[in-house]
Amino acid sequence: DGMLMSELPRPFRMMLLVNPQSGKGQALTLYNNYIQQMLNEANVQHTLIITEWQNHARELVREADLSQWDALVIMSGDGLLYEVINGLLERPDWEEAIRTPLGVLPGGSGNALAASIHHYSGASPVCSEELLVSCGFLLCKGLVSHMDLVSIHLSSSPRLFSFLSLAWGFIADVDIESEKYRHIGAVRFTIGTLVRLASLRIYKGRLAYLPVAEDGNNRTIHCNNQASSVSPASLLCRPSSNSPCQNTFYNSCHSNNSLTSRRSESTSSKCTTNALPGPPDSLLPPLDQALPSDWVVVQEEDFVLMLAMYQSHLAEDLLMAPDATLNDGFIHLFYIRAGISRIALLRLLLAMEKGAHLAANCQHLVHTKVRALRLEPFSPKGIITVDGEVVEYGPVQAEVHRGLARLISG
Ligand code: ADP
Ligand code: MG
Repeated sequence: DGMLMSELPRPFRMMLLVNPQSGKGQALTLYNNYIQQMLNEANVQHTLIITEWQNHARELVREADLSQWDALVIMSGDGLLYEVINGLLERPDWEEAIRTPLGVLPGGSGNALAASIHHYSGASPVCSEELLVSCGFLLCKGLVSHMDLVSIHLSSSPRLFSFLSLAWGFIADVDIESEKYRHIGAVRFTIGTLVRLASLRIYKGRLAYLPVAEDGNNRTIHCNNQASSVSPASLLCRPSSNSPCQNTFYNSCHSNNSLTSRRSESTSSKCTTNALPGPPDSLLPPLDQALPSDWVVVQEEDFVLMLAMYQSHLAEDLLMAPDATLNDGFIHLFYIRAGISRIALLRLLLAMEKGAHLAANCQHLVHTKVRALRLEPFSPKGIITVDGEVVEYGPVQAEVHRGLARLISG
């Protein structure tokens, strides 16, 4: 299915981007203590580049002569890989550029992809320096696999690409509020969780998704199936497959819909034809238009959290989607309905460390596999994160692109 592994040529030439500010500010020390020698012994030629500002890596990758490099590797948290992926997909030659093998060495406070590839390798869970050493070995082995990416549409920002997560509610708030504890490393998430739990909130909004087709691969786990289909009338709003906007609506459709008009008949499309780079989205209508009838609209509008995951781990010690793989082509959608008690929520969050939350039989937790989703928060202010980074708050929709990127994994 085109998802085969390949091996990097030897010796391979690697651009290694290190963010000296990530995590506790120790990435360079970790490089000197663990990685430099390992790469030399494995005959991996690498050029060390220390990032100097936010978006530095994104700019470098956008302009780089990629024929010089067999792999682009980050040593930081997930934030730096997010920059690299979006930089590659902003290039006019994005189709070629996104095939460049990528790699991750955990040096930040949020090292979810590193934890995920370690998990996929079948090894037992580890943290911190042990995780770094494991990822160092995987990197030296140089086995390249495809990795799913998800395109994200926001109401007035350009489309962007995500390799890890889209979050709203409890988890997004914890991630961002805990930034101020960055100096203590991954423990910041634990502290942040306890703070947020003490002042637990309800998040109001509408959630809809396109389920994975029933083909045996779609084992949906519902504690309580309260979902229903949208009205057939909305089918009228589906863009036709040969619409001139089809390939470009993602970059130029500015939603002007208020929450009160979200169910009104769709107005004429605001699509234009100036194409931005990146693959077209085939499942998403413009953000201000109604969804096709094969989408499921979640009946609840009160949530504690919504989390869309495309890899197994959300952090080194959070096994959120235990059955996720690098390129399964699924968005693993989780939401927790309001009404859950603090103690039940705490129990779930603790169970997530080992991925046991799905077996906990919680009536408020729903997990399903989807190809695309749309979230329309009702509150005017709040936090939405993509791969742990804050993005524009408001309506958001997403579609998975199976195996679009390549990652050195195990
Ligand atoms: P962490 O897991 O610790 O948050 P990230 O890789 O997510 O680590 O990095 C956090 C942010 O730091 C990213 O948004 C990145 O753009 C930014 N960044 C990269 N280099 C620098 C730098 N030299 N100074 C400040 N910020 C930087
Ligand atoms: Mg980060």
